[in-house]
Amino acid sequence: MTDESGAYDVVIVGGALMGSSIAYFLSENSDFDGTVLVVEPDSTYVNAQSTRSGNSFREQFSNPLNIKISQFGLEFLAEFHERVIVDRDVPDLNFRGTGYLFLATNRAALEVLGAEHEIQLANGADVRMLDPAEVGSQFPYMNTDRLVGARFGSEREGSIDGWALLLGFRQRARHNGVTYLSDRVVDLIEAEGRITGVRLESGGTVACGYVVNAAGPRAKLVAAMAGLELPVEPRSRTTFVFDCRAPIEQNVPLTVTPEGVHFRRERQHYVTGGVPIDDRAVGYDDLETRHGEFEELIWPVLASYVPQFERIAVVASWGGQYAFNVLDQNMIIGSPAALPNFIFANGFSGHGLQQSPAVGRGISELIVYGAYRTLDLTPLGYDRVTRNEPFHESAII
Ligand SMILES: Cc1cc2nc3c(=O)[nH]c(=O)nc-3n(C[C@H](O)[C@H](O)[C@H](O)COP(=O)(O)OP(=O)(O)OC[C@H]3O[C@@H](n4cnc5c(N)ncnc54)[C@H](O)[C@@H]3O)c2cc1C
Repeated sequence: MTDESGAYDVVIVGGALMGSSIAYFLSENSDFDGTVLVVEPDSTYVNAQSTRSGNSFREQFSNPLNIKISQFGLEFLAEFHERVIVDRDVPDLNFRGTGYLFLATNRAALEVLGAEHEIQLANGADVRMLDPAEVGSQFPYMNTDRLVGARFGSEREGSIDGWALLLGFRQRARHNGVTYLSDRVVDLIEAEGRITGVRLESGGTVACGYVVNAAGPRAKLVAAMAGLELPVEPRSRTTFVFDCRAPIEQNVPLTVTPEGVHFRRERQHYVTGGVPIDDRAVGYDDLETRHGEFEELIWPVLASYVPQFERIAVVASWGGQYAFNVLDQNMIIGSPAALPNFIFANGFSGHGLQQSPAVGRGISELIVYGAYRTLDLTPLGYDRVTRNEPFHESAII
């Protein structure tokens, strides 16, 4: 199919990180000579989760597949310049290799960190266990009184400018011939067990060979257009940026406390967030900043681990949404057996930024070769949802 007015081999619903990564990998594959349309209503991405993210990469997952997915993300960052350059222009990723520090305050939690550590080492991660004294000497700003231990990664883990990653995917995909259309998909057209086209908000229809659902927290709505149930719902996550009266003059890794609060240094500021006490589905347009969370939930935890954080002031904050897979908080990728040309790339919770390169590569392989060629992402497929078989990951933030 090559008619640019109304037929494409692949139509991607949503053009933020996932949609653009998939478009990028398809358009880079020399075995693919099809046409790709990305339908995205908001080219500013102001409400997309991709611009509201914590922007961090880690190797410290518990599931070997998730470790490998993020390791490919890190490899991709290392080659970003060559992979996305267009006319000598490359967005600046500004990678800061600060590592992640997971804290434990009781023996049971330490055992979990230790068990995950074994899996991470077996899968090539650079990570080590620290006792409280080692935490104190490496991070002297920390109050270690309650700690029984911690796990710390290396400078391979860290943070980037996520907007640059999205721009890089998009600029190269467009350069390679991918079309971005400013519109919204409002329905899917189905015939004889296949999606044959999409209906647009502007009134037109586009015929297609494949449809990819990359609609972030709205993925469930797009799945429903094909009569499919997707256990992905929007969950509120607020990010706070704060200043500290007595700044910490050293690396502050992305630190994860047992209370579900995380914090890290971002240049002269600090970034933090946590899991809301009442963590449940919110409205699709609810991007409200939950200001109360800072004083009620986050600040007491921050100050209990870092005494200097008793004197801080919030300087910025914004609301966001996890696309939360209620089955197991892992991504759902691939097509359902009943509808083989409808492909999901959904349910990434707080991991989608680092997972976007592996997801883009994997889905491009599914479309071009009919199977994964590099990393086998089959265990993360839709069929586990219909079988109600969670694919476990214990290192969730
Ligand atoms: C507070 C917060 C912190 C995070 N921290 C991290 C982190 O540190 N590390 C990490 O790896 N990940 C992190 N994430 C997760 C990461 O940001 C997301 O998983 C990732 O951005 C998801 O990208 P996406 O393209 O799937 O979704 P989105 O960025 O939400 O994009 C979906 C797009 O689909 C479009 N769309 C929706 N419906 C339609 C339709 N009907 N037709 C056409 N287009 C449509 C939307 O306009 C939108 O642009 C965080 C997320 C949040 C909210």
